Order: sequence, then C-alpha cells, then structure tokens
Amino acid sequence: MSRSSPAPSKPPSGNPQASFDAVDLVRAKRDGGELTDDEIRWLIEAYVAGTVPDEQVAALLMAIYLRGMSPRERDCLTLAIVASGEVMDLSGLSRPSVDKHSTGGVGDKVSLVLAPLVASLGAAVPQLSGRGLGHTGGTLDKLEAIPGWRSQLTTSEVLDQLESVGCVICAAGASLAPADRKLYALRDVTGTIESVPLIASSIMSKKIAEGTSALVLDVKVGSGAFMTERSRAAELAAAMVEIGRSANMKVAAMLTAMDVPLGRAVGNAVEVAEAVETLEGHGPDDLVAVTVALAEVMLELANLPGNPRHALQDGSALAVWRAMVRAQGGDPDAPLPRADVVELVLADSDGYLARLEARSVGVAAWRLGAGRAQKEDPVLASAGVLCLVKPGEPVTKGQPLLELHTDDPARLERAREALNGAIEVTAEVPTATTQLVIERIG
Ligand code: URA
Repeated sequence: MSRSSPAPSKPPSGNPQASFDAVDLVRAKRDGGELTDDEIRWLIEAYVAGTVPDEQVAALLMAIYLRGMSPRERDCLTLAIVASGEVMDLSGLSRPSVDKHSTGGVGDKVSLVLAPLVASLGAAVPQLSGRGLGHTGGTLDKLEAIPGWRSQLTTSEVLDQLESVGCVICAAGASLAPADRKLYALRDVTGTIESVPLIASSIMSKKIAEGTSALVLDVKVGSGAFMTERSRAAELAAAMVEIGRSANMKVAAMLTAMDVPLGRAVGNAVEVAEAVETLEGHGPDDLVAVTVALAEVMLELANLPGNPRHALQDGSALAVWRAMVRAQGGDPDAPLPRADVVELVLADSDGYLARLEARSVGVAAWRLGAGRAQKEDPVLASAGVLCLVKPGEPVTKGQPLLELHTDDPARLERAREALNGAIEVTAEVPTATTQLVIERIG
C-alpha cells in the first residue's frame, strides 16, 4: 500500500532542521503504508544524531515488525544503515574479496576453518565479527582462547593482513554501521528482533560496510538455529541475497542443518582444537562437508579455481591458519586452556544414539561458562561440551556420551538441567538421516 500523504507538513519536535516528523512515519507504517527513501534516510540519520528518541523508533520498529517492509524500503534501510558509518575499501587488494556470514549454530566453528581455507586458494577473506550472545557462541570468543590472540585491529592492520596472509578474523570496529548497533539494542528490548527485513538489513549492512565484493550466507535451520523453520530461513536467505545484489555484491545463501551440534566440540578452546584438527586433515565429516560446500560457493563467486578438500589435506589451509593466528599476536603452538572439571554424561541403555538436540547442548555449554548473557560478560575459554557420540552411532549402557567442561563446578547442575530430554537412545538403528546442505538460494 502506498501512502496518501507522503510529505509531512510540520517540523519534528526537537529538531527544527529536519524535514520529516517521526510520528508521521510511525503512523504511515502502522497503517500499512510505505516510507519514502528520503524518510528512511532521514530517520536513520536523525536517530544516530539523537534527534529522534528511542520511543519513536521503537514504535516504528514494532510497526515494521507487524506490517513488514517492501523490498525497496528494506534495501534503502540497509544502505541508510551503511551510510551511518565508514565503508572499508578493499579495492586496492591484489586478491578478490569474499566473505561468509553464518546466522549461528551450536558447534559452528566453520569460520575458523573456512577463512584460512579459502585464503589458501587465493581469496582475501575479511571476517569482521561480533561477539556471541546466547546459546550459539561467538567466533571472537573462540579465537580468544588462543594465548596472545587479539581481536582488535586497525583498518590498516586489516588491509595489510588481507594482502599478506589472505584472511583476517577480527572485531568489527565501532565505525562500521553504527546505526545497526543502536537499532539492534533497541530491537532487543522491544520484542522486534524476529522481523525478516530488520534481520536481513542488520546483517547485510555490516557486510556491505566491510567492503567485501562477494558473500556466502550460511543460514542455519533447525532446533539449534536462530531460524527453526525452513520456510522462514529461506525467506531470510532470499531477502539477504536480494539486498546484496541491490548493492552490487555477488551473493549466494546456503541453508544448512542445525538440529545436531556441528562436529563434536561446543565451546571456545574445544572448538579451536577441533578446527585445527580439521585444518590438519582429520576433521569430523559433518564439519568438513559444510565447510567444503561453503568454500566451493565462495570460490565460484570470487572466480577462483581450486579444490578445498585438497587444501584441507595438503597442509596449505593449515599454513594460512598459523600465519593468521601469528599475525594477530597468537601462538598457534601454545597449549589451549583446559577445564579444571570434566564430568561425564553416561548412556542409560544399550542401543543407538537417536537424538542429540543442538539447542540443549548449546545452552549446556553456555551455562558451563562458554557463552554470555550480557554483552560485556566474560566467557570461560575452557568451558564447553564434547559430544563423544553422534546420532546414528551405537552405544552401550554406561558409555560416556558427553563430557561437560568447566572451571566452576557450581555451573554443572544447571548444565545438566539443560540436557534433560535432549538425548535419546533407541534399540533400533535410527533410519532418519540428516541432509546437511539443504538448499542453495541465489
Ligand atoms: N544478527 C544480526 O547481526 N542482526 C540481527 O538482526 C539478527 C542477527
């Protein structure tokens, strides 16, 4: 529906310079209208400048949550968020840039393997990441388990490392898409996170500001994912692909399964250890399959030849990993932190493991100290869960199924509670098989 009265007549309260009134924009969206590009750009600028208050933007976000956005509004919002900060210029690099974004999963250490892997085949991979919140864990928290490794780099350090090493995984600086930080914090406390156009514009604004020419989106689907339903995940993937293309980015999305933790390790140091094993050529099958599938699409988008499976076997991806860790102050040979306390979860019958529910395992790892409830909380590098058995494998009564790792034994009880009902052992071999790579969109 288009708006009947696009140009508001009165100046907004508190900002005589501005040309719109935030209340008009809220009313328009509330009633199912569309905002003009000028209105959207004005609103984002005024919000960042502090001349439109949280309560008006909160009302608008709720109206968007309920009414949705047209593709034009969504694409314009994304670019307005990008314009609120700096855009990195990767055009001077000698390698084609290509990045990956994951919507987050339990045991999802794919970035740790994928960035050096694709860099080893000739790409520049600028992984500018945020911190983990909730049960899925964050890439920076995982890497910070490596002694000496630092996440804060200047723009010139990022560019130098992309040229010399080929990949960087570091914290996204405060100057990239600052409007997103403000909007996300407001969405978090107003029940407006779960809106496809708002999620898509939030994620894509940061990737566009990062300056990458190409992007693969790993949109996880299942009980351990942000999107539990395939149709919603596909909707989000399509929205992000459309936004990327409207910003002249080469982009494709892969829907991948997230009902069971990826690999066997869930946590920080334990996931780094598993990523290194994978780079050494002996990673778990599911992690290798997802990583290789994403690497193939990244290479295609970057127009690079190369065989990612070979690069995992012949040591070339591992060599880039070691160079990346060193370039960021870490010691790739230093022992990783180990937990003071390890408790086993045992099988209570003979049979086959039929279910190991990803979200519950993620919550258990979080409660053991691997994740944070608030943005600034510290995490325990050593905390996490090791899945000794994966669905489909035989088990005998009393056999250890999981290891719970923590430095703080007081955390064990709540972690055990999280696992109630998460594990199922059946007498028969489970017939259901999981298709890991579900669908490509774009
Ligand atoms: N991740 C983001 O960066 N933004 C969202 O809105 C949701 C997940």
